[in-house]
Amino acid sequence: MTTANLIATVDLDAVAHNVGVLRERSGVGVIAVVKADGYGHGAVPVASAALAAGASAIGTAGIREARDLRAGGIDGHLMAWLHRPDADFTGAVADRIDIGISSPRQLDSVVAAARDLGTTATVTVKVDTGLARSGVAYEEWDAAASAVARAVAEGSIELSGVMCHLVFGDDPGNPFNDVQAARLDAAVADLTARGAAPRVVHMANSPAALTRPDLARDLVRPGIALYGYSPIPSMGDFGLIPAMTLETQIALIKRVPAGQGVSYGHTWHAPTDTVLGVIPAGYADGVPRGLSGDLSVHVNGRLFPNVGRICMDQFVVDLGSDGGGVSEGDRAVLFGPASAGSGERVPTATDWADRLGTIDYEIVSRIGSRPERRYVRGRGQTQEH
Ligand SMILES: *Cc1c(COP(=O)(O)O)cnc(C)c1O
Repeated sequence: MTTANLIATVDLDAVAHNVGVLRERSGVGVIAVVKADGYGHGAVPVASAALAAGASAIGTAGIREARDLRAGGIDGHLMAWLHRPDADFTGAVADRIDIGISSPRQLDSVVAAARDLGTTATVTVKVDTGLARSGVAYEEWDAAASAVARAVAEGSIELSGVMCHLVFGDDPGNPFNDVQAARLDAAVADLTARGAAPRVVHMANSPAALTRPDLARDLVRPGIALYGYSPIPSMGDFGLIPAMTLETQIALIKRVPAGQGVSYGHTWHAPTDTVLGVIPAGYADGVPRGLSGDLSVHVNGRLFPNVGRICMDQFVVDLGSDGGGVSEGDRAVLFGPASAGSGERVPTATDWADRLGTIDYEIVSRIGSRPERRYVRGRGQTQEH
């Protein structure tokens, strides 16, 4: 029984299918990236579906996210690579999280945690090969590499991996991809020469995983493609299937006369007598207010346009003077894969992003906590979670 107004239905078979596409195209194993609550899809169910589909490991940004997965019953290899300078790694080490370090200071904190616990921490060295974001800076490389070698030699850490992140992953032919790969390989060679060879090396995000198998090294680290969105829309969909359908019901229908203003500020007035449908979803659910007057909702195979401003909890669609044959309670799809509805094409999260001048990553990761997540297998029966 559903009580939330807005439902984000997540097809875990689509996630599993997408893991398969990524493994096949890259030719290597997959670290499934489930940061930001699985890009809004729900980190624990996505991680567990990805591992069941053959993913080798799970990646998050922060250690809180990784530890929440562990607490949520995810037993596979977990890694996290972005930390506050005052982070206490004791809990993460105790939870067997593979900790990505970006500075000698972070390594020191991890080593301190391992010593406190009397155990060996698992560490990945994140190298800044040109993105100039997180990752060990070039000027700190020597200090970091010698500290890693020392910590490996004394047994306080084991070096799980060496990684970097690409600047131009979505531009496969960009020569800077090869520059970054060469810098990463040099970092691995340096660590190896110091007696600290990593078990695995990885750099490819979704677009590189799908288009540059030569960069894959040992593993790829896709996020957005897991959820079914093409990381390079101009190159097609790569056979990926969007996992999320954002759907609700028509909450209320009302007939209004010509001239009736709709929603805050009456920014739209009915040009003729018409029928309005109220959609119980708004910007607090991740429906961007900036799309006011610029999105359509899919009901019974047809698209009906939003009119007036999108509010925090609701917005209005114009069903036309004949009411479009729509009734209260009819299913209304905001976005989803093609299979989410017949008739006119179902809008996608990418459509929303294009209209806002952003990327679908931002659309899906901002679906807040209020919409209910409902997990299905192949858009079939619902499974409790
Ligand atoms: C977010 C992230 C990824 C996944 O990127 P996508 O473009 O979603 O595939 C991989 N690696 C790192 C370090 C990230 O921060």
